[in-house]
Amino acid sequence: MTAPRVVVDLAAIEGNTRVLVDRLGARGIRVTAVTKAALGSPAVAAAMLRGGAAGLGDSRVENLARLDAAGLVAPRSLIRSPMISQVDAVVRHASASLNTEISVLKALSLASSRLGTTHAVVLMVELGDLREGVLPADLVPLARYVVDLPGLDLAGVGTNLACQHGVVPDQPKMDELSGLASDVESATGEALSVVSGGNSANLGWALGTTDPGRVDELRLGEAILLGLDPLTRLPVPGLRTDAITLVAELIERRTKPARPWGERAQAAFGTPPGCRPAGSVNQGVLALGRQDVDPDGLVPPHGVGVLGMSSDHLVVDLGDHEAVVGDELAFGVGYGGLLRAMTSPFVTTVERQPTRV
Ligand SMILES: *Cc1c(COP(=O)(O)O)cnc(C)c1O
Repeated sequence: MTAPRVVVDLAAIEGNTRVLVDRLGARGIRVTAVTKAALGSPAVAAAMLRGGAAGLGDSRVENLARLDAAGLVAPRSLIRSPMISQVDAVVRHASASLNTEISVLKALSLASSRLGTTHAVVLMVELGDLREGVLPADLVPLARYVVDLPGLDLAGVGTNLACQHGVVPDQPKMDELSGLASDVESATGEALSVVSGGNSANLGWALGTTDPGRVDELRLGEAILLGLDPLTRLPVPGLRTDAITLVAELIERRTKPARPWGERAQAAFGTPPGCRPAGSVNQGVLALGRQDVDPDGLVPPHGVGVLGMSSDHLVVDLGDHEAVVGDELAFGVGYGGLLRAMTSPFVTTVERQPTRV
């Protein structure tokens, strides 16, 4: 098989989804499974649905179109505010979208009416992380406006925290969102069916709280795919962190001095790694570079250490491994690494189907 390749264990994706669906379901919270880090892979999406996800979310309409074409039966949400240039495709391929802009909502309304359909709208409110969302004071007026637009259905409200400034989705933030949901209902007379609390960074709150309030949905990607809590990058208990691995091939193995020699300046990607103890290393070079993966969050196999990465070479300390050229090593990836690997033309993706008896 070709290397480098991302190997996705679909049974593990299904299992991770199931664990989260069950735990959150006990608190009245549905899971919208986010497929963007898997580029809207139908096989990954299907595994998430088998695990009990109530719907699928992606930030790119191209990925939603891919899921649409695959014929998966599930609601699809665009979880980034639509590009106004893409509203037709959004209405065609998504049953709902997250929104913040009047001009986009007008365009969605026109597109939806033209296509003779109804598009569900979730209004995003800014609660301090300073990415998408209208300010809380502007939410009710915007909701009133949406209610009067033909072709649109005001489905609910939502927020997104943690992504831009690491602002924690805690009880006060979620209480504020619940309060805003109630304000919108009172002002519009519409019952909201979606109060979308956030992303994987909400899990700590959602699994720990005794009061989920009005929050009835989370949009989860990283936790399902990698089993990690984005706030700490630590494993979420009960989830598998090995659902996705990146396999690379060894192209050189040689015992080398641990320390470089000669006059030193900048390396290919900035400051070179600090000085290592004298001695020698069982050094390996893998055909894997920054064109394939972000070294951040790369987890080497047990007993192997990452020494550095440039565009096309990953240098490792193989420790006691008696690896030979041509051997393959499997690495865990972080979220950034997964994104890069999935979008690199040099990395193939292999989706390992679950074996059923
Ligand atoms: C990417 C994204 C998510 C999912 O985030 P994870 O950390 O992968 O769970 C949820 N909501 C929005 C708006 C996003 O952009």
